[in-house]
Amino acid sequence: LGSNPSATFESVQVQPLLFVIATPIGNLGDVSKRALETLASCDALLCEDTRRSSILLERYGIKKQLISYHKFKEKGSLDWILEELEAGRKLGLISDAGTPCINDPGQILVEACRMRGIEVQAVPGPCSLIQALVLSGWDTSRFQFIGFLPKKPEAVLRQAMAYPGTTVAFESPERLVETLKMIDGERVVAVAREMTKTFEECRKGTASELLEHFKANRPRGEIVLLIGEGPTPDDLSLEELVEMLQDLHGLSLKGAIRQAARFKDVPKRDVYKKFHN
Ligand code: SAM
Repeated sequence: LGSNPSATFESVQVQPLLFVIATPIGNLGDVSKRALETLASCDALLCEDTRRSSILLERYGIKKQLISYHKFKEKGSLDWILEELEAGRKLGLISDAGTPCINDPGQILVEACRMRGIEVQAVPGPCSLIQALVLSGWDTSRFQFIGFLPKKPEAVLRQAMAYPGTTVAFESPERLVETLKMIDGERVVAVAREMTKTFEECRKGTASELLEHFKANRPRGEIVLLIGEGPTPDDLSLEELVEMLQDLHGLSLKGAIRQAARFKDVPKRDVYKKFHN
């Protein structure tokens, strides 16, 4: 503590610590040295699926107490986990694959730790949405991630088609063909499948090309779907822009005209004239 009387015991207390550790999305060789060291240093590991995590841990000779922590347990086990952390136990959180909290359990716990002043460290590593973006070869300066597509994806897909950047979504192999049917046939899309595994592929083309391909070759395995950049207001005529604002953003004709005039920097009355003659 030196001579500073305000340096209290807080500075020498054991820091309660949660480690959020990314693990491979297929190829077990993709785990980082730091991830392995951190896993080995924890007192126990919270696992989405203990059996699945055992495969990775056994491969690297790490023996730990494994505690089941899946999405149905996230809220119920919160108090108990926080108490363990506050008692000074060092816990690691891992999901089945990739980065916890990204469509995997973890966010509720991390937020609760933050609120209780429990230190959280994230050990970075594989994440399928980033991997798919990299494989696509598209401009990554603007993208939106929308997680799993809902069972009725029409509205979400309409919004994605208007988004002026790449949209990244998780999709199941059983639904891919139906989803591709709902995307404008001319739109460029990419399907990143089984990344880092034996049958990895990243197939790109128009939605209609990929629809034909996957109708003929039933998709299998894990899939990330990317929908290419939608048009920017500059690419559209005034009429097209007004139509898009109505269709995709649900604006009234009047509202769409007002927005379109603003986007295109033209007087509102000129746009009104086009629609009211
Ligand atoms: N947290 C994970 C991550 O960081 O990648 C994502 C978990 S989410 C529950 C699982 C979904 O991620 C899969 O259904 C699939 O859409 C995608 N995914 C995971 N691994 C993949 C892989 N190796 N290839 C393609 N998609 C993958």
